[in-house]
Amino acid sequence: MRYLNRFALIAAVTLAAQPATAAAQTFRSADSVLRKMWTAGIEQSKTEAMAQVLIDSIGPRLSGTPGFAAAVDWIENQYKAFGITAKREQYGTWRGWKQGTVHMEMTAPRVQNLEVELLAWSPPTPKNGPVEGEVVVIPELADSAAAKQWLGTVKGKFVLVSPPEIMCRAPQELERFARAATVAKINAQRVEIQRLGLARLRPFAPANTPVQALARAVQMRLDSAGVIGIGTLTWSGGWGVDKIFGANAERAPTVDISCEDYGLLHRLATNKWGPRVRLTAESQATPAEVPMFDVVARIEGKELPNEYVLLSAHLDSWHGATGATDNGTGTLTMLEAMRILKETYPNPRRTIIAGHWGGEEQGTIGSLAFAEDHPEVISGLQVAFNQDNGTWRVEILEGQGFLKASANLAKWVAQLPAEMTDSVRLQLPGPQANSGSDHTSFLCRPAPAFRLQSSYSEYRQYTWHTNRDTYDKIVFDDLKNNATMAAMLAYAASEDPERTSRDLSTLPALPNGNPRAWPTCGKARRSYSETPAPRRAR
Ligand SMILES: [Zn+2]
Repeated sequence: MRYLNRFALIAAVTLAAQPATAAAQTFRSADSVLRKMWTAGIEQSKTEAMAQVLIDSIGPRLSGTPGFAAAVDWIENQYKAFGITAKREQYGTWRGWKQGTVHMEMTAPRVQNLEVELLAWSPPTPKNGPVEGEVVVIPELADSAAAKQWLGTVKGKFVLVSPPEIMCRAPQELERFARAATVAKINAQRVEIQRLGLARLRPFAPANTPVQALARAVQMRLDSAGVIGIGTLTWSGGWGVDKIFGANAERAPTVDISCEDYGLLHRLATNKWGPRVRLTAESQATPAEVPMFDVVARIEGKELPNEYVLLSAHLDSWHGATGATDNGTGTLTMLEAMRILKETYPNPRRTIIAGHWGGEEQGTIGSLAFAEDHPEVISGLQVAFNQDNGTWRVEILEGQGFLKASANLAKWVAQLPAEMTDSVRLQLPGPQANSGSDHTSFLCRPAPAFRLQSSYSEYRQYTWHTNRDTYDKIVFDDLKNNATMAAMLAYAASEDPERTSRDLSTLPALPNGNPRAWPTCGKARRSYSETPAPRRAR
């Protein structure tokens, strides 16, 4: 009863607060377009309905999967429904894969369901049926001869390759409730376990193999040795969250096991309790690579059609959850911004484009390909706005080292309603964020590209690339705010009498005191079979 009353109270407060939020805008000028944009974006938002389809019904949008293809179809159709021209542009191909049901149970020393996620592009269990075997951990091995000998014992077994976590509570909870000495002790144990875990991998590969390559080398050797499955753990440092990336092995199915369940299996194996698991992993790879696309929507400029304002967000996601905040919210921000623009500013001065990129998670492939294939957009780019960091309101706008275009950014921000900008921090011309998302594909050319950034730490901990990046995490008030803001910024940039300059500022020095160079462009990897080109420093 007490809970019922509390929920009733929350509901009443929420309902009462809604109209007040929508009505409280403080415009800084009499500009009627901005007022219409507020109404269309905040009061008549389509984001909740669109999010339900994109995040829940289509779900994960991993490159090369039917989910990505469905998202491409859906977003093209959304644009059509809004009366906006949009088309898919094939930029290359990627390995095709689809996942079926996956489940793993512990069968000894007792029975328990385990929380697992199949890593991307993992092979299935044979005939998509169950396999069962003993769980083992990699022991301390003296040298490569000992490693070879041990590999002779793992056929038919399930091998845990990652170091376990000593505790799966969020660190901030531990810091809040435990004694400082306890926190320090656990942190030291954690560092030691990671060090030992890495040391156990060393005998499997030549000395000085980099860490990433080392994990891959070990998994390839286990694969050849005939293991029935590989268990990994990439804990994301919070309650119930793991990061879910791609598999290395070509024959043995590879799963991420939740922090808690991984620790359980690891302790049972280490203490010789003979744990066993039964794994069923259904998946299917396509015989050939499948096409990958960017979807590009366009509202033609009336006065300066060869100058462009670009709204940018990647459409693909990882697959451990449904990519709600990486990058469902960015996708919806730009799609909804285009709807708002079409309704309130249908004849823009400059051409406004929305780019929904594929393959961002595999190295910003789609946006790099677009920049390579569209030199006319690069040369005519007034500005690009990219969003790719989760839900919450946009709070940080950085000039990315553009000496003069930063001032244009400040000018555009100054036109927005106070409710939208009061919590925004401008860093002009700013330090440069030269990695991490699609803005870099433009920044490197160098064309003015800015990020619409939200509050970061909780995103990194809980939803970014994790098994918990789901619909319920979206804060719709913030998504509406961001979509409306993107539309308003695009409007201001399109109307700006001044063309943005590409003058560059001297970037802040590196931590070692050396000058920081402007980044150079990577080359778009047009197929999975193509070797990735390393990004060079200039
Ligand atoms: Zn992303």
